[in-house]
Amino acid sequence: MKKLPLHIKIIFGLVAGIAWAFISSYLGWNQFTIDWIDPFGTIFIRILKAIAVPLVLLSIISGVSSLTDINKLGKLGLKTIVFYIFSTILAVGIGLTLVNLFQPGKFVNEEQRVKNRIKYELWVSENPDVPKPKDGRSFLQEAKYQDLVSSAIDEEAMDSLKQVAAERNQRVDQLAASADETANQGPLTFFVEMVPENVFGAFGSNSNMLQVIFFALFFGITLAMLPNSKVQGVLDFVNGANEAILKMVDIIMKAAPFFVFALLAGVIAKMANTPAEVLQIFKGLGSYSLVLLFGLLFMVFVLYPLVISAFVKKISYREFFRRFSPAQFLAFSTSSSAATLPVTMECVEENMGVSKKISSFVLPIGATVNMDGTSMYQAIAVVFLAQLHMVDLTLGQQLTIVLTATLASIGSAAVPSAGLVMMIIVLNSVGLNPAWVAIIFPVDRILDMFRTVVNVTGDATVSTLIAQSEGELNVPEDVPASK
Ligand code: ASP
Repeated sequence: MKKLPLHIKIIFGLVAGIAWAFISSYLGWNQFTIDWIDPFGTIFIRILKAIAVPLVLLSIISGVSSLTDINKLGKLGLKTIVFYIFSTILAVGIGLTLVNLFQPGKFVNEEQRVKNRIKYELWVSENPDVPKPKDGRSFLQEAKYQDLVSSAIDEEAMDSLKQVAAERNQRVDQLAASADETANQGPLTFFVEMVPENVFGAFGSNSNMLQVIFFALFFGITLAMLPNSKVQGVLDFVNGANEAILKMVDIIMKAAPFFVFALLAGVIAKMANTPAEVLQIFKGLGSYSLVLLFGLLFMVFVLYPLVISAFVKKISYREFFRRFSPAQFLAFSTSSSAATLPVTMECVEENMGVSKKISSFVLPIGATVNMDGTSMYQAIAVVFLAQLHMVDLTLGQQLTIVLTATLASIGSAAVPSAGLVMMIIVLNSVGLNPAWVAIIFPVDRILDMFRTVVNVTGDATVSTLIAQSEGELNVPEDVPASK
């Protein structure tokens, strides 16, 4: 058992967690799982997140302070942003192609879709700013739909009653409020918020990774500008502390299989009682989930590994997964790119051979702003919801989705379900009803696990490509079995 590579042990944990959740619900032990197993998953996410901030801070300072040419940093920054934006737009493009090709919304029963359309028209008539549907039809008035109109109006009334009562919609209201806040911000807010008001605030409980990156870069550059004799003590401290933090990641990862077991058992136990109930959640959303999964799996199993094996000779398709899968499994279990960051950095540096200079800079930025999976999901979900309501989107609207899904994924926090909040902005931007997020809400937590894997794999791929192009990639012959 000791000799098994880490990623295999993590797979055991993952499978055991899922199996445990189902067995325990079968035996009626769900509450036990929630009370006594799930908290270990939470502990794991907390410790990883706690490590992420000092790790980013110290590794950026240590990487940047050793730079002799500061201009190079500017070029690296620009290259990173360009690569990230390109990969995000590519993901949105693939997502839009798939959803237009397979049209998952059309698999849903026709009568339900007509009713959805009628409800949508009612909503449009109450919101004069919203553009009218491009086909110019009014189902509300067409004679052949009249028998459905009254039942749609009744359903709408029921829906709003339910909306007031259901807890799920309270959450959607909160989501809408926070997305509105983001949507109403000025054009430069993103940059303003990158600058911390108080350094300790940036490291505090609501730590903002971009603020940490900003401070670390500024501090590191300043150290590089000062003569070594003056700052040697600080440099030694930063490098030493950085080593200690990396060792902490190693220690935590030894226990990762157990923690992954706890995470998976907890997530599923909270979601449903039996496998049949899990399947039930997908009812009506199966076609959407399948198209989205297809797109996400295409990114993970085709696009990224093929790009890497094409550009980096030493990393074959199989090696790509062997070297990077611990981070992928962790992304899947935690649904958080931020919590996965310490392990993403470790895999990319030690297994892929990306230099610290590159990884310490490119990966924290990626975990915060580059979310290929989230952007693809937002594009697919919005077009699916439009199809479900028999609303055809114009080319202009689809292009708007490319833009807003890219921006919304940049703005999404690297924590579970953040992408769902930001989708409200994408719906708003093309004049669709933001309350529709409630429709896909039931399956969102599960799909979040998959899109987080794409987010993390995208960051790793881009950082490896950048390292290769900068001559900063030194692929080790093999990875230690424990990694
Ligand atoms: N959970 C995702 C992440 O942390 C963000 C999302 O909700 O799409 O990467």
